Amino acid sequence: MKMSLDSESPTIAVLGGGQLGRMLALAGYPLGLRFRFLDPAPQAPAGHLAELVVAEYDDLAGLERLIAGAHTATYEFENVPARAAAFLSQRLPVYPPAHALETAQDRLAEKTCFRSLGIPTPDFASVDTWDDLTTAVRRLGYPAVLKTRRLGYDGKGQRLLRNPSDLAPAWAALGGTPLILEQFVPFDRELSVLAVRSVGGEIVLYPPVQNHHRDGILRVSLAPAPALSTDLQQRCEDYARRLLQHLDYVGVLAIELFQLGTQLLANEMAPRVHNSGHWTIEGATTSQFENHLRAVLGWPLGKAAPRGYCAMINLIGDLPPLSRALALSGAHVHLYGKAPRPGRKLGHITFVEPSEAGLAGRLAALHSELPSLVSGLSQTTQGH
Ligand code: AMP
Repeated sequence: MKMSLDSESPTIAVLGGGQLGRMLALAGYPLGLRFRFLDPAPQAPAGHLAELVVAEYDDLAGLERLIAGAHTATYEFENVPARAAAFLSQRLPVYPPAHALETAQDRLAEKTCFRSLGIPTPDFASVDTWDDLTTAVRRLGYPAVLKTRRLGYDGKGQRLLRNPSDLAPAWAALGGTPLILEQFVPFDRELSVLAVRSVGGEIVLYPPVQNHHRDGILRVSLAPAPALSTDLQQRCEDYARRLLQHLDYVGVLAIELFQLGTQLLANEMAPRVHNSGHWTIEGATTSQFENHLRAVLGWPLGKAAPRGYCAMINLIGDLPPLSRALALSGAHVHLYGKAPRPGRKLGHITFVEPSEAGLAGRLAALHSELPSLVSGLSQTTQGH
């Protein structure tokens, strides 16, 4: 449903009140939007900015309070219970659509969907029993990655299988839930594409981004992805368009891919705004957050062109002294208002520079001023 541009202050109901929700609100306020969030955690970061309903995601009374007077519902994480999505869909427009959410929630359905659209993926097999596992590993060979089909994120619910002795411990840890075994891809780099489609079918694509993970968690994104051939860029965009159209998608969709030589293999998609798109806040004409809101309201989308060469560095586990971070020339510092905890995303820093050399200079300064932020990623951030 299109939202008239002349309507006053529409309220957006958001499932989840984490940093993604918080950044959605920050992008929506200049457009006159209002927000209400639902999150089980009373300390959820979006609650610092807008009304927060503290309830479980499938608490129907809580969901009623969330959507009272709201125009549209959206979410900032993909593990929304199907019951909640169904309940909301009967009452107001919910974007992205429920079937996109269901596909993205299940790694098997997701990879099957990629394949059906001619989007290459690492070879995979469904694993429900020990026999399935031994059969799958015979077919795919070592190394391989065993993953839970559902609820895995940031590398959780995964085991790398290097040889037969890894099978029993991996099965002991993950067996009993539906699993997928994937061929391990010795990728050159990881890329992501953020794509946006509005209620009216308008599409904009951000340039592909290069991502660096450590311990399964995104640490650094470089945008646009350095030295990406036109052919690879076009393939990324083509895959994104196929998915948006097939899913009749509305909102921001993130697709994560492995590059191996001239091959591109899709790993997964996220039906929401994405950490690898945080650079767009300062680094693109229109941020992913603003475009997500425009898309779900049926408003014209904003341009996704980059404003320069960008790097986004996640602040994970604990924060550097704020005075040091703010003293970094050119640094845009974002803090999410979360208590430090190992592995937790607490904020990010973005640099946007007019030249590649300028960005390399900023990252070199970061290496010497705050080395802990980029330790283990030197090749990453110096190679730009
Ligand atoms: P995922 O939860 O699927 O995004 O996996 C988290 C990270 O684990 C990815 O960003 C990759 O760095 C790594 N990974 C996942 N699947 C594979 C695979 N099939 N081959 C190699 N690395 C993988």
